[in-house]
Amino acid sequence: MDYISENLQLIKEHIESAAKKAGRNPNEVTLIGVTKTIEEERIQRLVDLGVKNLGENRVQELLQKYDNITGKPVWHLIGHLQTNKVKYIVDKVALIHSVDSLKLAQEIDEKSRQHNSVTQLLIEVNIANEESKFGVSENDALKFAESITFLKNVNLKGLMTVAPFVANPEENRGIFYKMRKLFIDIKDKLDHNNNMDFLSMGMTNDYQVAIEEGANLVRIGTGIFGSRI
Ligand SMILES: *Cc1c(COP(=O)(O)O)cnc(C)c1O
Repeated sequence: MDYISENLQLIKEHIESAAKKAGRNPNEVTLIGVTKTIEEERIQRLVDLGVKNLGENRVQELLQKYDNITGKPVWHLIGHLQTNKVKYIVDKVALIHSVDSLKLAQEIDEKSRQHNSVTQLLIEVNIANEESKFGVSENDALKFAESITFLKNVNLKGLMTVAPFVANPEENRGIFYKMRKLFIDIKDKLDHNNNMDFLSMGMTNDYQVAIEEGANLVRIGTGIFGSRI
């Protein structure tokens, strides 16, 4: 499993060079290892190599791995979340990246209240207006953010997007730029409960461009583990 270590080293170097290119401190950027479909042995290797942030798409898969991976990783739910599954994960994840409806935000709030906790979340924005993608539209994002700030047991921490799959990552630069602008705009306009710290964007194919355009959470799976079969 040495390739995991080698891939990780390369990704760290790319993160550093992309950050520097943009005049940013590389330490501002957190790598989330995306572990969907990956067996526990390889995930454990990644955690043992020092990657403490892990991202999963599915609740069931997250729960299973949550119990078995040691080393106290921090779990992120990055895939679409159904309202009826919130109760299973609300006390287990550090950050839910994929909040895209008020109904879902309210359910996270309610279940967090029952656990006497506050859950951190991001709004997923469908910035490129793709029909196949989840997320709120760019135009609805501010209003949605405002309504979330009235919920007491959730904490809006920022925005997330899944950019289009493109052959050349440069094609997504404009999308990432737009996300950054939206992020700053919402951050400026929210006048209470404003903890907008995170801009989650960039995957294996385009994380360097995303970092150059302001991402501080990047979600990388294939680049670490190789392609998922
Ligand atoms: C699968 C997935 C990723 C990682 O994608 P890679 O191309 O394998 O790096 C990131 N974010 C989300 C939401 C995903 O579903």
